[in-house]
Amino acid sequence: MLYESTRGGAPARRFNEILLEGLAPDGGLYVPQSRPTLDLGPLRGRSYTEIACAVLAQFMDDVPDLKEIVERTYTKEIFGSDDIVPLRTLEPGLHLLGLSNGPTLAFKDVALQLLGNLFESVLGRRGETLNVLGATSGDTGSAAEHALRGKKGIDVFMLSPHGRMSAFQRAQMYSLMDPNIHNLAVKGVFDDCQDMVKQVNADAAFKSKYRIGAVNSINWARVAAQVVYYFTGYFAATRRDSEQVSFAVPSGNFGNIFAGYVARAMGLPVKRLILATNENDVLDEFFRSGRYRVRKAVVETSSPSMDISRASNFERYVFELVARDGARVKKLWKQLESNGEFDLSGIPGSGFASGRSTHADRIATIRSVHAKYGVVIDPHTADGIKVALEHREPDVPLICLETAAAAKFAATIREALGREPGRPKGCEGLEKLPQRFELIEPDAAAVKRYIASHAK
Ligand SMILES: *Cc1c(COP(=O)(O)O)cnc(C)c1O
Repeated sequence: MLYESTRGGAPARRFNEILLEGLAPDGGLYVPQSRPTLDLGPLRGRSYTEIACAVLAQFMDDVPDLKEIVERTYTKEIFGSDDIVPLRTLEPGLHLLGLSNGPTLAFKDVALQLLGNLFESVLGRRGETLNVLGATSGDTGSAAEHALRGKKGIDVFMLSPHGRMSAFQRAQMYSLMDPNIHNLAVKGVFDDCQDMVKQVNADAAFKSKYRIGAVNSINWARVAAQVVYYFTGYFAATRRDSEQVSFAVPSGNFGNIFAGYVARAMGLPVKRLILATNENDVLDEFFRSGRYRVRKAVVETSSPSMDISRASNFERYVFELVARDGARVKKLWKQLESNGEFDLSGIPGSGFASGRSTHADRIATIRSVHAKYGVVIDPHTADGIKVALEHREPDVPLICLETAAAAKFAATIREALGREPGRPKGCEGLEKLPQRFELIEPDAAAVKRYIASHAK
């Protein structure tokens, strides 16, 4: 499989070459050049790892140890069950796909656990090392650290805003004692952390000397890993390969739902992809009006992992909408930079529905799902279910993606249900574990000094 840039200005590359890269050199995102399809017949009834191998082999055909990596990644020990992403039926025709059973209790584990093993394998084959630098407001950082802890050839330097994460999020990151994990607690806010990462990356000499890399959400391997559970969720919810289903996805950077779009392009019978946003409704606005209008700032909400002002994976979908015309995408993004928006209302959408949800909706949905089905959902999943039910069609099974465990968002659960969410096995005394982090000033030079003295 060869990969090209959404802006049409970069040479085609193999998967192994794009794995450790961020953006393509022309500023675009890498996408596969051809669109593979899969026969459903031979996959029905297979295990998660068998289906993962079938899907991923289409995109990662130059990873010699793919099967071994997949089998080491998707285990009962790491994801809590042999199903990896168990499907729970709330009532006939309405299902919840459990994506939050990994080490940090959020769906990002599904892709990042694979990415950690892919990175280690590729670096090992090349005899290279990598220093992953990132900024987090909570969730992505912990998923990345849990995916990369103990990996050979990799160090992780994660900036987080000191004193601004929940006790649970802090404990998930700072309790890691692996020597390759470096938590840098910045005396500032999340934007300071992000700016510091940008400044370090802007220093090309430093970046290449210390082999600085990232695990951002635009990495194609993350999209590919997420395609797998659309297939396994489909098989779990249907009896025959002719049946259509719809998926509802709480969205932020458009990575998760874009994987559903790819699954459909590979032959999965998906009727609708139902996109849900919170008050940060850039994407809902696009799917209702055809107008993509990035925001100047985000609104802080009780589904914080969807608080975005622009959706980083969205460019991949636009590339498909304009019939894979890279020059056109390049123009649109230029326009976005100067005007903050573009309009594609003339182009018919393809099988998406969308809606938006507010704090009050989340609270009401957490309450009603608990009252009706005895299930405690997290606020992101609640955004998804709220919008899903507005678009539900009789006779089309609806699969709602559960993107985080309620335990991570105790304050919202207390507000909705008047009690603490239960803790999954293994995280009972998490906040009591010893913690390790380095306090640093909001200054890129301080990060560089730290990396220079700790990188391998
Ligand atoms: C990251 C995240 C999302 C948004 O996923 P995207 O791929 O960015 O659309 C939704 N819910 C949770 C819990 C998340 O962590």
